[in-house]
Amino acid sequence: MDSNSFQALQEKVRGRVITSDQQDYDDARAVFNGMIDKRPAAILRVSQVADVIAAVNFARDTGTDLALRGGGHSAPGFGTCDGGLVVDFAGCRGVRVDPSAATARAEAGATWADFNHATGAFGLATTGGIIGSTGVAGLTLGGGIGYLARKYGLSCDNLESADVVTAEGNFVIASATENEDLFWALRGGTGNFGVVTSLEFKVHPVDVLYGGVIIYLLEHAEAVAGLYREYIATAPEEMGVFLGFHQGPPVPFLPEEYHGKPVVVLVGGWAGPHNEGERQWQPFLDVAPVAGSFLGPLPYTVLNTLFDPMYPKGLQAYWKSAFLPGMTDEVVRVAEKFGEGIPSVQTANHFYPINGAVQRVGRDETAFPYRDVNFAVDIACHWEDPAHNEANIKWVRDYYAELQPLGSGAGYVNFLDADDQPNIKDTYAGNYARLAEVKAKYDPGNLFHINQNIKPAGSK
Ligand SMILES: Cc1cc2nc3c(=O)[nH]c(=O)nc-3n(C[C@H](O)[C@H](O)[C@H](O)COP(=O)(O)OP(=O)(O)OC[C@H]3O[C@@H](n4cnc5c(N)ncnc54)[C@H](O)[C@@H]3O)c2cc1C
Repeated sequence: MDSNSFQALQEKVRGRVITSDQQDYDDARAVFNGMIDKRPAAILRVSQVADVIAAVNFARDTGTDLALRGGGHSAPGFGTCDGGLVVDFAGCRGVRVDPSAATARAEAGATWADFNHATGAFGLATTGGIIGSTGVAGLTLGGGIGYLARKYGLSCDNLESADVVTAEGNFVIASATENEDLFWALRGGTGNFGVVTSLEFKVHPVDVLYGGVIIYLLEHAEAVAGLYREYIATAPEEMGVFLGFHQGPPVPFLPEEYHGKPVVVLVGGWAGPHNEGERQWQPFLDVAPVAGSFLGPLPYTVLNTLFDPMYPKGLQAYWKSAFLPGMTDEVVRVAEKFGEGIPSVQTANHFYPINGAVQRVGRDETAFPYRDVNFAVDIACHWEDPAHNEANIKWVRDYYAELQPLGSGAGYVNFLDADDQPNIKDTYAGNYARLAEVKAKYDPGNLFHINQNIKPAGSK
């Protein structure tokens, strides 16, 4: 593809086409995972839907690979590509809240920090990710697990409608009453079906939670996990808390002697009266000696950005994921074993509860199928020095090899890496065939293939 072709695209759009001869090309091509070093022919910073239509038509007509970027957090780096065109929404981050309808509409480049900031001003929120810089678009299209999921469902369960540009360059609205098949597929099927230009969510009254972080040394893992699994199975849905294995982070409430030591953590918040929240957290303060903790009134917007300083753009990253029917003794034993050698302070091994409102939606009501499991696990390894790539990838793979047989056969699509693509049918379980039919209807040529790819039904 020569530079004249991209000049022609530039003339059709209001946003900027950035090519390798421009000063900010290296900045513009970089995604969150520093291991991804791809060189697109051009990055289009879209400014409006018309730009997206032009880009889709351009990519389809010229046979150019097309990557879509919301927040750029995809661990496999699906927000970029070699030699193709990246449609980047970094310049479209607006969020409009309608408090009387209890809805909020986000442009496709909004992050969860943008979204929570906008809705938080009205004392409202919806389920989003646990890090502020993650994109609303990519997270929601894959499902969306966060602190509010037990009470309000996954992010995709709160999606009311989406504006979409299809592979034909047509603008359509997907909702419960328009293009229902597309709406079904977007709620878990990722970016396989079109370019989503904005997303409208239900929002709920959420303001200052009672929560924070408790950190224990790894030797207390069995006691803490034992209490956690019993508690979370029947806990009031106001409580959103996950259990994780980490290295002790360099935070002021953890004594320095524990920094870098293998630890177990509980992180979350109670979205209800604070005196009741204090009562709900108390058993976790009593179950084992606490190495460090801070608990108290915590705005939801703060809880959702608590870890942001630990996760700057550019860390190396490699991820795997499993769904678990239960946190059995065997699961805890495996987690402890690998927790002992957890490779970096940015490595996160979290056990997120999948219950409450998430389970009130049927397996086939949205594309996200794994609703009758009880936990989603990420083995999300991040580190700074590329010299450790081989060793850290091996740690993730070895851990996954022992955890996977204890699970439900697949992992959460948003926590998978590029080498998980062969498991795509398992990732969608009983929903795969229907997704492939929707794909054949909206993207028969598989224009949107830089993702955990669902092949159009009938194609090879
Ligand atoms: C630090 C970190 C924390 C995370 N925390 C959570 C969490 O708490 N809960 C959770 O569920 N997940 C979490 N994730 C995983 C996250 O959901 C996925 O990485 C998700 O894909 C990120 O979306 P994005 O828009 O930032 O990424 P991008 O890399 O921009 O996009 C990811 C995928 O979405 C598609 N996509 C993006 N924008 C569009 C669009 N406008 N139209 C169509 N397709 C699009 C892309 O094609 C790509 O395949 C986290 C990831 C990281 C790195």
